[in-house]
Amino acid sequence: MIAFLPQEYEEFRLKIRRFCETTLEKNAMRWDEEEEFPYDSLKAMAEEGILGLGIPEDFGGAGTNRLKLVIAIEEVARVDPNSAFIMEVESLFDATILLFGNEEQKRILKDVAQGKKIGTFALTEPTGGTDVAGIKSIAKKENGRYLLYGSKYFITNALVASYFIVFAKTSPELKGKGITAFLVEKGTENFKVGPKIHLTGFRGAAIAGLQYNGAPVGPENIIGKENEGIKVAMSVLERGRVNISALALGMLQRVYEESVRFANYRKSMENPIVNYQFIQNYLTDMLTDLEASRLMVYNTAMLIDKNMQVGLNAAATKLFVSEALMRHVKNGVEIMGGYGYTRGTVMERLARDAHNTTLSLGTSEAMRLVLSRYLKS
Ligand SMILES: Cc1cc2nc3c(=O)[nH]c(=O)nc-3n(C[C@H](O)[C@H](O)[C@H](O)COP(=O)(O)OP(=O)(O)OC[C@H]3O[C@@H](n4cnc5c(N)ncnc54)[C@H](O)[C@@H]3O)c2cc1C
Repeated sequence: MIAFLPQEYEEFRLKIRRFCETTLEKNAMRWDEEEEFPYDSLKAMAEEGILGLGIPEDFGGAGTNRLKLVIAIEEVARVDPNSAFIMEVESLFDATILLFGNEEQKRILKDVAQGKKIGTFALTEPTGGTDVAGIKSIAKKENGRYLLYGSKYFITNALVASYFIVFAKTSPELKGKGITAFLVEKGTENFKVGPKIHLTGFRGAAIAGLQYNGAPVGPENIIGKENEGIKVAMSVLERGRVNISALALGMLQRVYEESVRFANYRKSMENPIVNYQFIQNYLTDMLTDLEASRLMVYNTAMLIDKNMQVGLNAAATKLFVSEALMRHVKNGVEIMGGYGYTRGTVMERLARDAHNTTLSLGTSEAMRLVLSRYLKS
């Protein structure tokens, strides 16, 4: 129980939970097994209003706050982490347009909220994701427009997207200070999506590379201002970290539930294994980290809703929750023995999906780098 969470939020959680259990649960394994993008899930989430949660009503969304968005991501992740990840990356796209886009660009959010169009956030390149200032993509100015050259890698939703936020250098001599964010539409000349990337987990997230060799975009495609792309990327990523933490939280909740269920019915030496102290230690540590993770995620979300600085909180939350998930999913597999290592069990899928939560939106090392900046006064 969370002392500071109003009853309205608990009711909201129950509503989302009912939706996820009746609509997503039955397909989640198949989407993973067949590496299938969950169009049905997206459509259902759009109809339920979940996709537009972070988008203001003026632009076709539900206009809720960050706290409700993270509760929704948590609940979707508990049932289908893949759908929650698609939603989480989509929210990076939405936030970039909402925070830095012009009125024309904001108009596309209506179709996004309704699940008719999908957006991506394309920053990482084949040569590295942590070193944002080191990106190699270039936008050459020519006759009043820009030609994009370069490539991106690991771009979630890329294979199904209509819109791509692409970061490229407009002033390479300024290094990180010469990056600009562009809104690129699918079908733009010389702009190709692919190859598809086959990952260990989140297998239905339509992840691919992007290649562009002279793709033309106009000044009207710039999001924010020229050479202010690093500000755009960093502020969106910083706040976005609470969303991926919510995803890890929902997965940790499921790891706990699956572990407790199994430990109560599995018998060894004539006793349910939950009676053995080794197993109890695993479960009590899971429960403790689950409680702490939830407090961190909700607190950071509430700070965002109050428009406060969250650099420290968001990095600490992501580091703590994703690392807790990694530790406990390993113990969840241990509790389930061979069944935790068997295709078709929820625990096995969670174990494969979990590692991405320490990687996406900055690795654990990158989170420690961010936090180390707060050590010196
Ligand atoms: C499933 C999935 C989905 C993704 N979706 C997207 C997406 O939609 N859009 C997008 O832009 N990116 C996406 N990414 C990319 C993700 O953000 C990067 O993988 C991540 O930022 C790390 O970059 P990298 O893989 O290039 O590793 P690198 O940056 O090459 O790092 C390799 C290792 O070196 C460490 N390291 C690097 N620099 C330092 C340093 N200065 N100090 C200490 N250690 C360091 C890293 O922590 C890591 O351990 C996705 C990745 C995955 C796995």
